[in-house]
Amino acid sequence: MPIYEFLCQACHKKTTLLAKSVSTPLTPKCSFCGSTDLVRAVSSFAYHKSMQTVWEESGEPSTSSSLNFYKDPRNIGRWAEKRFKEMGQEMPPHLQETIKAAREGELPSEMKDLKKSIPDATYH
Ligand SMILES: [Zn+2]
Repeated sequence: MPIYEFLCQACHKKTTLLAKSVSTPLTPKCSFCGSTDLVRAVSSFAYHKSMQTVWEESGEPSTSSSLNFYKDPRNIGRWAEKRFKEMGQEMPPHLQETIKAAREGELPSEMKDLKKSIPDATYH
């Protein structure tokens, strides 16, 4: 059964709908505020792909060159800040603290947890 994910344009929350069949016309409605102004959310595959694209386009090194990346502490968390900005969200305070601490030399042990907590912040 196909699963469709929609983002509400009114309250920016995610509504997941099960379609009875692929051909069933969907009339998505936000399960939080009732708005019908919804857009299809990107799949996690597309999301990760676009994330990689953003990374490459911005010239920031991928994880494979993380050693060079972390040589400059100012780079830490930059992509995360950008990601939250793109989503129009404030970065949660605990993430700001983590990044701040990492930039001050407490690295890179926190970065794994940081990465886990960033993707799909609005979608899950
Ligand atoms: Zn809504």
